[in-house]
Amino acid sequence: MEIKEKKIFQKALYRSKQEKSHNLIEERVNNLLFKEKNLSSSYLIIINPETKTRLDLQELLPKNFIFAPAELRQIEYLIDKEKKSLQIIPIQVNLNSYHGTKNSTDDFYEMPLSARIVYGDLTKKGGFLSLMHEISHAWQDVYYENFGQSNFEEFYNQLTTKLSIIAAAKETAQERKWSPEEFEEIVMKGQREELKDMGVEIDEKIFTEEIKTLKESETKIFDTTLKRSYIIKSEKLNQLVADYERQERDAWAHAIKVLKFLRKKGIDLEPQLKTLSDFKEIIYRCLDSYQKLLEKMIESSTKKIRFAR
Ligand SMILES: [Zn+2]
Repeated sequence: MEIKEKKIFQKALYRSKQEKSHNLIEERVNNLLFKEKNLSSSYLIIINPETKTRLDLQELLPKNFIFAPAELRQIEYLIDKEKKSLQIIPIQVNLNSYHGTKNSTDDFYEMPLSARIVYGDLTKKGGFLSLMHEISHAWQDVYYENFGQSNFEEFYNQLTTKLSIIAAAKETAQERKWSPEEFEEIVMKGQREELKDMGVEIDEKIFTEEIKTLKESETKIFDTTLKRSYIIKSEKLNQLVADYERQERDAWAHAIKVLKFLRKKGIDLEPQLKTLSDFKEIIYRCLDSYQKLLEKMIESSTKKIRFAR
């Protein structure tokens, strides 16, 4: 006999006051518990009791997108050392453990596949700027599909997988004492073609060497999973990094525009950010974290990564 899986539906209303402001943030949160997972969403409204203005934040989202609190989306990473793979396991979160956006986590991100804008603490300075930034990413996804970050990450993952296969084959060739001609015939011929299709060139003699100073147009790729590095040449990769940077900058610029527009309409979502340098301080902190993340993945001789510099 089949036992029907049990689903529990939870809902709650939270009102949090924004720091140094009269704004009230109203969150109507739904949470569905099922199969050791949960699925949450929230409806966000800003109310200014002084001017009696209300803003329904859903109106700023592309069609089908919804908000969700970061604290209600928790995952666990499991690393399988033998298979060298990473598994993402969702953890079930009960709505009873959520106390509203105030003092919640610092996470803001956009999930194109599940059409969600995930938010952290909106009551803090910079909270709404971050939210508007993620909303801009949602619009970028709607209009450009696979632009910037996702293209870069997909390319990087494909490339490191390929390079690790060649590196492993090189070790096998040494153990079995293959001649350079045999290695070329058995391994490199096919691999070089496939890399060329991706827009990547390698010189297999030096590609796993520990080289400190890169030559003209060379790029070092750090494989963060296997903790090793490879040397390649790829104009395509430089292009993907440039797109990624541009997408981030555009999303911040757009976020500022929306906040200024709302200010003119009588809703100030960032009362603590007054001057351009107030905005820049928050934005540079975020861009700098991308900068550091990318510097862990690649080092280029010609193209400097410049998210934050
Ligand atoms: Zn971003």
